[in-house]
Amino acid sequence: MDSYDLIVLGMGGVGSAALYHAARRGVRVLGLDRFPAGHDRGSSHGETRIIRQAYFEHPDYVPLLLRAYELWRELELRAGRQLYFEVGLLQVGPPDACVVPGVLRSAHDYRLEVEPLTSQEAMRRFPMFQIPAEHTAVFERRAGYLHVEECVRSHLAAARQSGADQIFDATIQGWEPRNSEFVVHTSRGSFQARHLIVSAGPWAGTLLRALAERLQVLRKHLHWFEPADRRYHWENGCPTFLFESDRGVFYGFPQIGAGGVKVAEHSGGVCTLDPLNDPRHLDPLDRQRVQQFVAEAMPGVTLRALRHAVCFYTMSPDAHFIVDRDAEHPRVVYAAGLSGHGFKFAPVLGQALTEMTLDGGTALPVAFLATRDSAASHARGSENA
Ligand SMILES: Cc1cc2nc3c(=O)[nH]c(=O)nc-3n(C[C@H](O)[C@H](O)[C@H](O)COP(=O)(O)OP(=O)(O)OC[C@H]3O[C@@H](n4cnc5c(N)ncnc54)[C@H](O)[C@@H]3O)c2cc1C
Repeated sequence: MDSYDLIVLGMGGVGSAALYHAARRGVRVLGLDRFPAGHDRGSSHGETRIIRQAYFEHPDYVPLLLRAYELWRELELRAGRQLYFEVGLLQVGPPDACVVPGVLRSAHDYRLEVEPLTSQEAMRRFPMFQIPAEHTAVFERRAGYLHVEECVRSHLAAARQSGADQIFDATIQGWEPRNSEFVVHTSRGSFQARHLIVSAGPWAGTLLRALAERLQVLRKHLHWFEPADRRYHWENGCPTFLFESDRGVFYGFPQIGAGGVKVAEHSGGVCTLDPLNDPRHLDPLDRQRVQQFVAEAMPGVTLRALRHAVCFYTMSPDAHFIVDRDAEHPRVVYAAGLSGHGFKFAPVLGQALTEMTLDGGTALPVAFLATRDSAASHARGSENA
């Protein structure tokens, strides 16, 4: 049986990053996944992900984001390609709801540059949007989007170049402690390691039984619509956007190339018990809700849908990530329940997980995301977004 210092279980958004951070330390590391690099069956596909710093979910995420920005930049240099596109982010909502006050709070606490705007000011600046008079807006310049599949592939390529072994088309059936090591059983044989990182996204509950009942997988839909003209193209100044209202939270991306404008609902979602065999077809009601948002907020986008995709949110009970070590086996660490907002953190979570396994701990401020840490309650308490 092949033996490693570390095995990474799942090479999606977080696992690909963890594999790279471990490999660059020169340890013997193996990554396992049942699907090919950059596949569309989990949570890390669909062209783009928003990245931002003034985090409305909680200010405690900001230091991790600042480090994530550095690490994405490093990865770009290493990959020799642009992964992050700083087109800015316009966030809109009632002044006393979640998003705009949350952005302003994080920006205040960490002195981040954001521009509060009235609805009139926001529409003058971004005439492609229609904003209700009673809503306010905030624009963050140091925000934009990541090319999600390219990020995963770049991490995997960098990991390979740094010496990591990778096996795709390998279904992980389970793992068990054996003597002072762990044995991971897969459809392509068993492998042994001293440490494990579990980064299995929607399948985290099958590989970490203790988490199973705390995680809920939601089916989420992405829709691409045809714009009537070029005002939603990023080259014409259209930013990424996120709108909160009493009907839900909707977000989207500017047109990139000749593709449509991608818009989706962040709120809601239907629970799926088996993401592997999920039907993944179009939900007409979901499309209708998104079309209604588009009709109201984006007058230059037609309701003609060009494309649709399904992706999974793995929700924790409070929508905050769970980054911890297994209670019984402390050399098994994991990131789970990323709750539909985790991709931008992939490299910093990859670094943190690697340090938690190989060094026994990390200086990165992830303790507030630990399940058992009572100090975590400040981020996991009632003030959560
Ligand atoms: C529609 C949508 C929009 C989003 N928008 C944003 C956004 O704008 N900004 C943002 O920051 N985040 C966003 N997110 C969230 C973000 O994309 C996810 O949090 C992140 O991609 C999760 O990464 P992961 O590594 O946990 O999961 P994944 O990328 O799904 O990786 C898990 C991997 O483990 C493998 N695996 C699992 N079990 C097994 C097994 N038994 N055997 C073999 N392999 C296995 C899977 O094949 C998969 O490759 C969005 C998510 C979705 C679905």
